[in-house]
Amino acid sequence: MSDMQSPLNAVADLTPSSTKKFHVGVAGLSCECCTFSPLLSGERDFMVSAGAELAANYGFFADYLDVQFTALRRARALPGGPIEPGFYDGFKAQLLAELAANGPWDGIFLDMHGAANVYGRDDVEGDLLAAIRQVVGPACLISASYDLHGNVSQRVIDSLNLLTAYRTAPHLDWYETLARACALLVHCLRAGLRPTLAFRPVPILVPGEQSSTEFEPAASLYATLPQVIADYQLLDASILIGYVWADEPRATGSVVAVGLDAARTHAASDDLAQRFWAVREEFRFGVTAGPVDECIRLARQEPTHPVVISDSGDNPTAGGAGDIPFVLKRLLALGAESALVAGITDPAAVAVCEQAGVGAGVALSVGGKLDPIHGQPLPINATVVSLHTVPWPANARAGATVLPNHVAVVNVQGVAVVLTERRTPFHAMTDFTKLNLDPAQYKIVVVKMGYLVPEVAALARRALLALSPGAVNQDIEHLPYKRLRRPMFPMDRTPKGTG
Ligand SMILES: [Zn+2]
Repeated sequence: MSDMQSPLNAVADLTPSSTKKFHVGVAGLSCECCTFSPLLSGERDFMVSAGAELAANYGFFADYLDVQFTALRRARALPGGPIEPGFYDGFKAQLLAELAANGPWDGIFLDMHGAANVYGRDDVEGDLLAAIRQVVGPACLISASYDLHGNVSQRVIDSLNLLTAYRTAPHLDWYETLARACALLVHCLRAGLRPTLAFRPVPILVPGEQSSTEFEPAASLYATLPQVIADYQLLDASILIGYVWADEPRATGSVVAVGLDAARTHAASDDLAQRFWAVREEFRFGVTAGPVDECIRLARQEPTHPVVISDSGDNPTAGGAGDIPFVLKRLLALGAESALVAGITDPAAVAVCEQAGVGAGVALSVGGKLDPIHGQPLPINATVVSLHTVPWPANARAGATVLPNHVAVVNVQGVAVVLTERRTPFHAMTDFTKLNLDPAQYKIVVVKMGYLVPEVAALARRALLALSPGAVNQDIEHLPYKRLRRPMFPMDRTPKGTG
């Protein structure tokens, strides 16, 4: 262990030396966009927060008595397809106008994801951050919090002074990362520092399901970050796995080092890039993965229950539509009983169930409408078991507009199917229990998810990852890329160097 302290830790207890108030603007854009999905993300998908509602997301602002935070606006959506250009242009124009009207700014704090895409355009974050820089001027410090699935570009780096990304997937540290991005910004404002950002693309692009920090090699790779930060006396460092379902030239894994000594900071980024590159062959699924029928067969043989099957190709939290009924189709074809499918998005089918009422028999054509490229509707004859209206999104952050989500639970050949009006992940036990469902009672639970989030992982006696069809198909080596920078690992097995 090194005994060197990060400069940030060394000054964490500094109290403001004057009464001067730094003026910091708050904004953000967050939507992980799958360019293989035909389901565009627009106004109906985004939750836009502003003012006090937005500021309420960041409790750590209260720690900085010498900073006046002015919360402008943040747009945030569930992962999906590319953003409609009109929505992005409107959001950007409004944000830039607010920045111009409320300045001058000492700093800008940005709550980002990093893998947005606007239909027909490249490097959205690069575009937005360059525009923000132009308004706030070169002296203002801009700090961004990123998801480790963000695809960073040089243009992004050139517009920022600070960037820090999540260090866990599943993202247990999302709030801690936001707090760190803010702490870095305030530290640099107080001390009058302008750090160096060293960015290295690493030509590796693997799905999150192969790079969770819950297992190797990402667990050990990410565990080296504190040591690298200490050894090179950095302010911060990040490893970004990148987002694989983006057919854009910027899509890549990368590392970013932030430090005060330019040479040491660049050396640190080289070191981290080498560490990332060195483990490329070790990325693999953390659980048994296979074709849908094989997963159903294994689940039925398992002596314990429930077995959780991830319908990974249509995972809405990675950008899938969430309406492909393929796994349900195979469960029915194979005669699987005691199965729960949660869920399939289909507002029309939910409306039919509501019209018919609890206990009624209904003929439905389920799913396959939002993403007709990867799925097709499945005709079923079902019985309506229960009807519900639940808040959406279930995990709304402070200030977000919460909408009603109509839900129907139906039974078809002994399989319980949850039909939702809106695209709905099932990540918490309460997502099931508020529908009067106890997933532990079923032999098989199918969720539209990739790697299991903690509450669902705790439920699973065994977890299987189904390589199912959809916009976020895990067979990445055969995705129809046209614009990805090549060579890229593992699509091209023997790329040279680390970029
Ligand atoms: Zn992510």
